Amino acid sequence: MGKIPRCGECKAALHGRQRKYCSILCRNTAMGRKPKGKSQFYCICQVCGMSYTKKKSLYERSRFCSRKCQGVALGKARRKKEEL
Ligand SMILES: [Zn+2]
Ligand SMILES: [Zn+2]
Repeated sequence: MGKIPRCGECKAALHGRQRKYCSILCRNTAMGRKPKGKSQFYCICQVCGMSYTKKKSLYERSRFCSRKCQGVALGKARRKKEEL
């Protein structure tokens, strides 16, 4: 009988590919609590859904994994405006 892996932050049971933390939010909370070290914050790209890391200072503004995705998002926004 195997142990059920649990989130290192909120103790929720982990599923499938999740490791250590149930969500990026919990991971960030745990990372943010570390007193020192390069704290990399995990973000999810709003375009392709991939997770990527940013420094805390950049994380708060970051929405996309790359300039390419940023371009896609901006292009979509522009197109939406044109449609309206
Ligand atoms: Zn959690
Ligand atoms: Zn992306």
